Amino acid sequence: MVHGIGWEMTRKQTAVAMNGGPGAALAGSGDADRALPFQVDQLEVRGRVVSLGPAIDAILARHDYPHPVKALLGEACVLAALLATSLKDVSRFILQTQTDGPVSMLVADIRLPGQLRATASCEAAAVTALAEAGTADTATLLGKGTLAMTIEQGHGGQRYQGFVPLDHESLEAAAHTYFHRSEQIPTRIRLAVSEMFDRDEDGKARHQWRAGGIIGQFMPEAEDRIRHRDLPAGDAPDDMPAGLPEDLQGAGLETDDEAWMEAAALIGTVADDELTDPAVSPERLLFRLFHERGVRVFRPVRLEDNCTCSRARVEKVLDQMDVGEIADAAVGGEIEVRCEFCGLRYHFDADRLPGAADGEAKHGRIQGGPLTNL
Ligand SMILES: [Zn+2]
Repeated sequence: MVHGIGWEMTRKQTAVAMNGGPGAALAGSGDADRALPFQVDQLEVRGRVVSLGPAIDAILARHDYPHPVKALLGEACVLAALLATSLKDVSRFILQTQTDGPVSMLVADIRLPGQLRATASCEAAAVTALAEAGTADTATLLGKGTLAMTIEQGHGGQRYQGFVPLDHESLEAAAHTYFHRSEQIPTRIRLAVSEMFDRDEDGKARHQWRAGGIIGQFMPEAEDRIRHRDLPAGDAPDDMPAGLPEDLQGAGLETDDEAWMEAAALIGTVADDELTDPAVSPERLLFRLFHERGVRVFRPVRLEDNCTCSRARVEKVLDQMDVGEIADAAVGGEIEVRCEFCGLRYHFDADRLPGAADGEAKHGRIQGGPLTNL
């Protein structure tokens, strides 16, 4: 049973733009690294737009992954931000894939309200070979496995975890399956990542990663407007309404309500560059999509590149390790622990760690392990 990813916009949020008038909707636009909640009353749709600029650039630049892995990790960060920023009474949200492809793991970890960090595990040579052959698509890179979402309540509070199978498909598709099967909320998500190139004042080439996404969910006051259909994943029933775009069939659609069909189709039209172009603010995108219906936006949630590792947290992880593991990891009486998220290295005197002095000092470092505990 999965709890907590269902969403409810808090009533405390203040509407800052009403009914999508161009002046109101575009006010205060332009800056990235935030999640902007929105609501389209006429369509009974709620959602968020996430726009990541300097934060995602810093996160991806820090890691030495091949380009396609950085792009995938960027998508994971956007998806995590889209989901986490709707949660109430939650201190932490972790999105993690574990699959059998050359990108075996992606982790996007958010301490709420908006401290974001991320890491991946991949076989870099295999990814590069696929990229050179032009076959480094998401399905091949990830392969088969699971997408897990973990929610922590309060500090050291209860943990809830939801899983969805990932079978040679995109994170977007896996998220649709999740909402279709577990939450049964009609949901439409778009994710995009791109590397932008330009020149600085001196004419020197520079590049920056950008990432963005949108989620829209049908949350009608009259619940019977969501008619639950037991759709086999990926298959559209014969009575699926004509004219429904193919990529919407079976993807988080549990209703043929006209309002939702309209909203889902509109979100489906969002192009990648509308989500990553710095000139298209979240407000502008929402206005483009919903100006005929009127869209309200709410106070944004700031997102920042910020790792939460600390010496105290690393010590706690070491305390939980076996004597043998500690001994194996000691080099010249010293233990080095590298944070997989931010790359920071922590050094400890092996003799002062419990039981470590019993083992023979060998070569090696502690890497990986229970990394989300850092
Ligand atoms: Zn760190």
